[in-house]
Amino acid sequence: MLVKDRSKSLRIKKLEVFQRRLIQNHPKLLTISDELGGRLAGHHGEQSNDYFLKPFLSKGYSVLHDLRLAANDSFFQIDTLLISTRYILILEIKYITGTLHFDHLNQVIRARDDGSEEAFQNPIYQVKRQRSQLTDWLSRNRVPNIPIHSLVVMSNPRTIIKSLPSHKDVLQYVTHSPYLQERIQVFEKMHSVEKLTKKEITKLSKLLVRQHTPDNPDLLKRYQIEEKDIIKGVYCTKCFYMPVVRKYGTWYCSKCSLKSMNLHLPTLDDYALLYGTSISNKEACDFLQISSRHVATRIFSSMNLPYIGSGKGRRYQLQLPI
Ligand SMILES: [Zn+2]
Repeated sequence: MLVKDRSKSLRIKKLEVFQRRLIQNHPKLLTISDELGGRLAGHHGEQSNDYFLKPFLSKGYSVLHDLRLAANDSFFQIDTLLISTRYILILEIKYITGTLHFDHLNQVIRARDDGSEEAFQNPIYQVKRQRSQLTDWLSRNRVPNIPIHSLVVMSNPRTIIKSLPSHKDVLQYVTHSPYLQERIQVFEKMHSVEKLTKKEITKLSKLLVRQHTPDNPDLLKRYQIEEKDIIKGVYCTKCFYMPVVRKYGTWYCSKCSLKSMNLHLPTLDDYALLYGTSISNKEACDFLQISSRHVATRIFSSMNLPYIGSGKGRRYQLQLPI
């Protein structure tokens, strides 16, 4: 059963807002589009791996994607978690282009087709650390003991893995998406004893979803972006033109002629991603580029948003698009 699906992370969504709203020729645009490109490739790699997990959704596994859980004084992230009655499997999904060398010093070096080389964090250490963090988390939450396995899954079929024959860890921990099914069958044969009941799995899945804390990084600070660098106004969700104008209660795009009553909603999502979820009428007028505070009041009341305060001091509570 699919318990928790994956969606684009807040980090990706924030980078997308920057890409659409940063003023032309902003010095950080290139770095931002590089980071966004890499992260989107990773996200699509994870999605393409989901295809190979489909047979297990109907085989009694609980599948949870994109978990971020507390570990002592920090957090740990899991791309995909499979829970069965007999064991748990952690998947770390990597979308990598080029050749990955696991060398005799336990370094991981990525060689690209153009001959350039780059050191990589060793994903085997990463999954071993995730396993021990999950073990601690389960024992802190009084979940009965259950064996935990972990795998690094290469979701790009063109990634070439090279390692020395003495590197048994690579054989044990690294696989490509199409071989995932066979690897899972081996784990199934290894564990015949039931450690969790179906009821306990449901309880554990709910607990994991409840304790999941999405990462919400301050990217304005990280990229030193100021308010004057951001283009304001409602954007067209079809052609991305900005600003779309409001006429008689309907938004109208002068570039592609899209008409919609609700185009302010994705723009208010942008606001929440940039500046946080609390917004006043004045701030909304400024960001949506509308001249009448009565229009903003109408928009807020149509959204049924919770608020605190009254009159000009009233602040509405938006939701982060998760
Ligand atoms: Zn348009």
